[in-house]
This record gives sequence, structure tokens and C-alpha cells, in this order.
Amino acid sequence: MTLEKSQLNELHWLMEMLHNIDVGLVVLDKNFTVQIFNGFMENHSGLLPREVKGKLIFDLFDEIPQDWFIRKAESVFLLKNKAFTIWEQRPYLFKFDSYRPVTGSADFMYQNTTFIPLISSTGEVSHLCLLVYDVTENAVHKQSLKKANEALAVLSQTDGLTQLFNRTHWESCLAAEYKRWGRSHHASSLVMIDIDHFKKVNDSYGHTVGDVVIRHISSLIRQHVRETDICGRYGGEEFTILLSDTPLKSAYVFAERLRKEVAGSIVTYNDISINYTVSIGIAEVDESMQSHESWVKCADEALYCSKETGRNKVTLHQTKISPKAS
Ligand code: GH3
Ligand code: MG
Ligand code: MG
Repeated sequence: MTLEKSQLNELHWLMEMLHNIDVGLVVLDKNFTVQIFNGFMENHSGLLPREVKGKLIFDLFDEIPQDWFIRKAESVFLLKNKAFTIWEQRPYLFKFDSYRPVTGSADFMYQNTTFIPLISSTGEVSHLCLLVYDVTENAVHKQSLKKANEALAVLSQTDGLTQLFNRTHWESCLAAEYKRWGRSHHASSLVMIDIDHFKKVNDSYGHTVGDVVIRHISSLIRQHVRETDICGRYGGEEFTILLSDTPLKSAYVFAERLRKEVAGSIVTYNDISINYTVSIGIAEVDESMQSHESWVKCADEALYCSKETGRNKVTLHQTKISPKAS
């Protein structure tokens, strides 16, 4: 075989490989008309190379954002450097269907694309090569991992029985609120709630019914709070609510409303009907509290006072007002 013939053969193989490679390959000239269009592009677009040759890429694929593409391509022509676009920035350049069975959940093929300047023998960049990689599998896995992690993060902050924040997460919110108060001194109140004589509920009807009562008060709390309030299950049948931007007086109005609603409710489970009450303590954060822990302590002391002085009532820290239950 002559040298010329073997070189011709190699060139032929090279063309064959580029045509069959599992990566999209498009060559464009400076006017953005298609010069080369390989098998991958043909298979996914349904267009034959002879149908696209010499045609403007934007006329063939109207999903390509023209201004963005021209800016990107012109920098490649000018700087003679490669450029990239990844699926996280732009999910695809060519809108192709996703046909892979494993990644069937994707509506389209996610793509990473490389722009390569093709430098001629005279050193000019007269053409541009686009390499289009199908990264659907990678994208779908990454997205489902992200979703799973987000769900896990929510779960790790949530109490299973009540769907309120668990104590750990609620305390971290309280610590953040205490810090925020240190900077802004906006009023902020902490409400602590404990179900009265809850042991009797468990002893009389069993833990399952006790749990129904716990879920009932949790749902009432959720109904009464604003979106910005932070509610947690602090202990077995103890609940805490952080009312940001709320002074003691307004917190008292909120707590009284909740207390009355609880006292007026009847929880039913099969043929059992239960009427229960709650005791509440409230502390508005102030200079005397050296930490978020001492803020909790003040609210807890107010709650203890409610218990000591008859239950089914709201006690305010400092002012020592202990309004009568109605
Ligand atoms: P008080 O009025 O003084 O608050 O009396 P109490 O009987 O409610 O006393 P306390 O607040 O100490 O009650 C705690 C009880 O709550 C003890 C425990 O059996 C019950 N408990 C704690 N967690 C759960 C839970 O997840 N489910 C049920 N059913 N009961 C729980
Ligand atoms: Mg308790
Ligand atoms: Mg109790």
C-alpha cells in the first residue's frame, strides 16, 4: 500500500469514527451555517446531514438562543479558545428527546457542550466545532440526590408525631433569634405550653389516645400561628413557639386565644371523648437574659407558675400577671 493510500484510509476511518461516535458533532462556519453533522446529531434530530448542510443553525433548531450563542461563538472565534456550557447552566442546546430507559424520568436529553475553534493552516479560525455530550443519566441522578437530601434535611428537623420542628432544630432557631435580637432589639416572645394532667389521659385511655391529643394540640398550634412563627415539640407534651417581632402583650393575646380554643375542644377517638387544657408561660426577650437558654428558663418559670396557680392559664414573665382562666 502506498503512503498516500494508507493516509487516505486513515482519513476515511477517522471520518467513520466521528460519524459513529456517541457524541454530537457539528461544524459551523463563521456565518453559523452547518458544514458537518454527524450520526449522533442525525439520530437524535431526525435530520439527514445533506438536509442540514449549508443551512443556518438557528433556522434548523429554533430552541438555540441566538444572541447568547453568537456571543459565545464570537469569543471562540476571536480568542481561539474553547468554551463550554454545562447542563446546570443551560439544560440543553439542542432539544432532543431522552430515550434511555434508566433515565426515562427526564423529559429531554440534558447536554454539556464544548465549543472548539477549528484553526486552519493559515492560523485563522474560520470554523467552529460543537461537541454535544448526553449527560442525562448524570443530571437525573444528581437531581434525585438533591431532592433526597432536601427531604432528609426536612426530616431531620421534624418531629415525626406532630410534624412540628424537633427540639434540636427549634433550639437552633431560638439561638439564631436571640442573636438577631442582640443586633436589632426587635421584640420577640417565647411561648411555652404544657398539657395539663396528661398522665391521666395516658393512664385512663392508653398512649395511642395520648398521641391523638398531642397531634390535636399540634394542629391547633399550626392553625393559630403566622408563617414566620417557629413552632417546636420541646418534650413529650410540651411545645414551644417563637413569635418574632411580637411583644409580650401581643403574645399574651395569641396564647389566650389558643388556650381558650384548647379548653373548648373535644377530641374524639372511637367512642372516647376527651376534654383537656393547657398551661402556658411567656417570656419576652430582654437585657436580663444572658443567653437563649436563660430566655427558655424564664418562659419555663412562667409556665411553672401557671401550673402552680391552678393550670389552664397563661402567665407572663416579669410582669407576673396571671390572668384568670375564663
Ligand atoms: P401537669 O399538669 O403537671 O403537666 O401534669 P402531667 O400529667 O401532664 O405531667 P407531665 O407534664 O410531667 O406529663 C408528662 C407525661 O407525658 C408523661 C408521659 O407519659 C407523657 N408523654 C410524654 N411523651 C409522650 C408521647 O409521645 N405520647 C404519649 N401518649 N405520652 C407522652
Ligand atoms: Mg410536661
Ligand atoms: Mg403536662
